[in-house]
Amino acid sequence: MLNSCKKIHYPFALAPRESELIKVAPGVFWLQLLMPFTLNHINLWLLEDDDFWSVVDTGLNNHESRKLWELVIEKHLKGKPIKQVVSTHMHPEHLGLAGWLCERNQGELWISQGEHESYCDLLTEIQQKAYDVAHEFYKVAGINDKQQGHYATFIGFFDKLIGRLPETIHYLGDGELFKMGGQEWRVIIGRGHSAEHICLFCESLGIFISGDQLLPEISSNVSVWPKKPGANPMEEWLVSCHRLRGILDNEVLVLPSHGMPFHGARLRLNELIDTNERNLNRLAESCKKPQRVVDAFPLLFKAKVTQSNLMMACGESRAYFNCLLSRRQLISETDDAGVLWFQQIN
Ligand SMILES: [Zn+2]
Repeated sequence: MLNSCKKIHYPFALAPRESELIKVAPGVFWLQLLMPFTLNHINLWLLEDDDFWSVVDTGLNNHESRKLWELVIEKHLKGKPIKQVVSTHMHPEHLGLAGWLCERNQGELWISQGEHESYCDLLTEIQQKAYDVAHEFYKVAGINDKQQGHYATFIGFFDKLIGRLPETIHYLGDGELFKMGGQEWRVIIGRGHSAEHICLFCESLGIFISGDQLLPEISSNVSVWPKKPGANPMEEWLVSCHRLRGILDNEVLVLPSHGMPFHGARLRLNELIDTNERNLNRLAESCKKPQRVVDAFPLLFKAKVTQSNLMMACGESRAYFNCLLSRRQLISETDDAGVLWFQQIN
């Protein structure tokens, strides 16, 4: 693939089948685990050293994933232990089995400090059932009490699908070099989808492990969450996209967590930036008349918003509004019922 390529290119025709590994480069292997959601799979990356393995992301903490890992370990890992477990971020399919894999192998978990703190925060919220802040957040968005009942279930999911983490955790920060598969990988922290998402770039192999920060077909969820209603993850995500565009060329092979490995990182980043900026403009335009967070759903999302994706839709819609507020394109006002309305600045 050349830098001048005009289209995103997928060099692999098929994803690995159950418990199969596909070699994507010397010492780098691709494993796919299935998930019982609309987003039905996650890609994991295994890197081979002389006497141990490293894995990037782990799959969900459930029986099916553990069973599949057992098979993979027996069939493909040549008796060598998994000594390094890297979780790109704290979402369940990326961190779920980190504790289990580390315990079985006396391995070590590597994650960013921001992701670890987000996980601890969330766990405290679930354990203390401290949902008042969430209630307020969704009320402000224009969601009624009945629809809100889903929040505890939605957030409780995280707890079940992430197993207990190891006692000792190692942090990776932006710019650090991490060795795995006999190669040096540079940590690039992305923001917006999660607090401090780890991406790993190996210049000598021309490979970028992107996690959820850069996906080929779907866009990463970028949401405001109840505990930080004033956050501006959309701008953080756009800044990260611009930064990655400066680091990656179209020749690099991108290994995403969902979808197929691809060439054309810059093309994809341009698409993502353009789409989000277009959405921001359309939303700003629609705010000639006052709008609530829920009013923006038809404009922002092609898929129908139902009870199952309501929390994500609400968080993502708020992320667009907060970005426009911080760009001074909108102002907001709370009505007597406590609901927030956004309007264009005249
Ligand atoms: Zn994620």
